[in-house]
Amino acid sequence: MDKIYYNGDILTMEDTRTEPEAVLISDGFIAFTGSLKEAVRAAHQPEMTDLDGKTLMPAFIDGHSHISLVAQFSQFADLSGCESFSDIKMRLAAFQKEKKIGEDGAVIGVGYDHNFLKEKRHPDKYILDEVSDHIPVFVLHASGHMGVGNSALLKEAGIDASAPDMEGSRFGRIPGSMEPDGYAEETKALNLLLARVYAKIPGDPKAQIEKAQELYLSHGITTIQDGAASGQDVETLFEAAKEGLLKADVVSYVLVGEEPEKLEQEYAELKKAYWNHLKLGGRKVILDGSPQGKTAWLSKPYAGEEEYRGYPAMEQEKVQTYIRNAIENGVQILAHCNGDAAAQQWIDSFEKAMEQCGVSKEDDLRPVMIHCQTVRKDQLLRMKNIGMIPSMFVDHVYYWGDIHLKNLGEERAEAISPAKSAFEQGLCVNFHQDSPVVPPDMLHTVWCAVNRETREGKILGEEERVDVFEALKAVTINGAYAYFEEDKKGSITEGKLADLVILDRNPLKTPVSELKDIKVTETLKEGETVYRKC
Ligand SMILES: [Zn+2]
Ligand SMILES: [Zn+2]
Repeated sequence: MDKIYYNGDILTMEDTRTEPEAVLISDGFIAFTGSLKEAVRAAHQPEMTDLDGKTLMPAFIDGHSHISLVAQFSQFADLSGCESFSDIKMRLAAFQKEKKIGEDGAVIGVGYDHNFLKEKRHPDKYILDEVSDHIPVFVLHASGHMGVGNSALLKEAGIDASAPDMEGSRFGRIPGSMEPDGYAEETKALNLLLARVYAKIPGDPKAQIEKAQELYLSHGITTIQDGAASGQDVETLFEAAKEGLLKADVVSYVLVGEEPEKLEQEYAELKKAYWNHLKLGGRKVILDGSPQGKTAWLSKPYAGEEEYRGYPAMEQEKVQTYIRNAIENGVQILAHCNGDAAAQQWIDSFEKAMEQCGVSKEDDLRPVMIHCQTVRKDQLLRMKNIGMIPSMFVDHVYYWGDIHLKNLGEERAEAISPAKSAFEQGLCVNFHQDSPVVPPDMLHTVWCAVNRETREGKILGEEERVDVFEALKAVTINGAYAYFEEDKKGSITEGKLADLVILDRNPLKTPVSELKDIKVTETLKEGETVYRKC
């Protein structure tokens, strides 16, 4: 089936910046770009689509997110926007009532942020006991790096005064004692609580994946990441793929603690290439926490702190082993790094592991540093030298920029997500939203990267603003590169997949302050419409 799109602005995202008059799609691929006359001549009984002045460009590519978590979180109470403990309690109580959660269930809320609560701290078990003193209650912080359980949950999970803190993770304690106060910080402690409550949630995981996929497609994203998958997540995605439920491409990266090697053998058909739109992209390590939760691992203390600079999630020897293992198995590896000390550990470990494995930049391993919040310019240079990709969570400037000013001080806050520096150094930088942390809204991200305006309206780090074309590259062709798919996706080029998005305005001709208001009107995956705005 041939289709021709014409009569609108066509952004190919090729560096030549040519603006063809028409695009011909044939069997899901871009068959021709150029004049309308030639497109018609090259086509066989084409379906003609008049863009009517709208803009056609390559579909967006998710630099990093967690579709499995987006799917799961849709089942929980939304605590974003809560301004006090009483807001949180009210929302949880209403949710419990609405969902008729009884004795066997659990009440879960996601997305509160202590930075924006009147109390300026995390709730504790006593607050949540007011929601229920016998049903487990759990709330997860917006960063996903910390959360709080009530007394019933702590009891079920067997966490009491004798529970030890674990490497790169800790429990909150009642002052002057070892008694837990309900707070859990970073992966290991969090997972003890999460595992208890997740097991109690009913629902159809495949249907939740489908719903999550719709959200991404509505934002023009046709390549989605599952950026810290468990064995269970891979299985659910595999089942969804088997039933033909995936319309977008999903790339899964397995957390190193989840025995990725075993999964790579078990799901051999997902390695290297897509099978029913699902592929195993590689592995993922988490090296530190979150800057707005003050667990990101910095090289210098947080503002106003004598010594405290966050902490690592694992020791360097272990990181190196994980990297070596990935290199030896020929799979890509990503690392969550927010603090510059974590970034340093990732770069150092990767350099060492490359040396030990006898590989070089020419082996094209494309390791990714996810988030890069406080990565420094000297580190960007070293990343370039080993072919490491920065994937930046540039929305942070808007969502938490004002908090970063307080937590990091002006100099470091202004240098968060140093996108312009990365472009100038010639790195293949891409952008992400880390959904479900923030919505997968690429045009909001483009607006953030170009304007760098905080919630309170301050401009944070003017010199790190990128131009619109660079921002669009970061969410298209550069995203494709991170998945080794730049020959198939990311630009409107003959021979590439017809993964496309139609926008109501041309970002290159829109005032930069209005970039976030541009709407996706249609999304196409391999030439087929997978989303249309009604
Ligand atoms: Zn992360
Ligand atoms: Zn993430």
